[in-house]
Amino acid sequence: MTPGLRPLIAGNWKMNTLVREAVDLAKAVVAGSGSVKAELLVCPPFPYVAGLAGMLAGSTVAVGAQDCHARDKGAHTGDVAATMLRDCGATHVILGHSERRADHGETDAMVKAKASAALAAGLVPIVCVGETLAQREAGQALEVVHGQIAGSLPEGFVAAGGVVAYEPVWAIGTGKTPTEEDIAAVHAAMRAQVGAATRLLYGGSMKPGNAAAILALPNVDGGLIGGAALVAADFLAIAKAAG
Ligand code: PEP
Repeated sequence: MTPGLRPLIAGNWKMNTLVREAVDLAKAVVAGSGSVKAELLVCPPFPYVAGLAGMLAGSTVAVGAQDCHARDKGAHTGDVAATMLRDCGATHVILGHSERRADHGETDAMVKAKASAALAAGLVPIVCVGETLAQREAGQALEVVHGQIAGSLPEGFVAAGGVVAYEPVWAIGTGKTPTEEDIAAVHAAMRAQVGAATRLLYGGSMKPGNAAAILALPNVDGGLIGGAALVAADFLAIAKAAG
């Protein structure tokens, strides 16, 4: 944790849940959120953002999206603008997730343009960075993360409360995590790069069993949770481990 920064626990639901499941999951998160001190965020698939934002209005659980387009409107079939998400009640948007970088060829420059659009729309961008296994094994983790941050954060990002999530690609959905020393080393380097005011999340196979140890590391200001965010009890246990 970083003194003075409220932890953020964000759930990335990815392409999971049908409507009934999304509603039940969101309700269960709200129902169990009473004693949670961390800021809570759930990021459902696009079709549920408006409905869940309406449903959770007035609760302590915010709703975000998992991507946005860099433009406000236009001929971009299938894409969704940051302004639309904000208008639907979203407050945050995950950008540059490694699955989008891999599946959709998103580059740092594209992520930066999307983050810029998010800021202009009044959304808090959560920009994901992280090395592949080959890059870690080649000793390039710090260099890769530094380059992704340098290339993906637009002007105004820090001042607007933008968030950076360190998600080693090889730890996502695999049950593997870096050592605590390795997480701390990457987060210390990110802290030196972005300054004291930016929340730095860890993501990658965070579960109730490892959350307390990871969240206690210096410069880890919360978590971006994938698989465990689909089980309300697990998501809430992680959130409680944040203090
Ligand atoms: C993620 O995809 O952002 C993530 C952290 O997934 P998981 O927790 O399942 O590794």
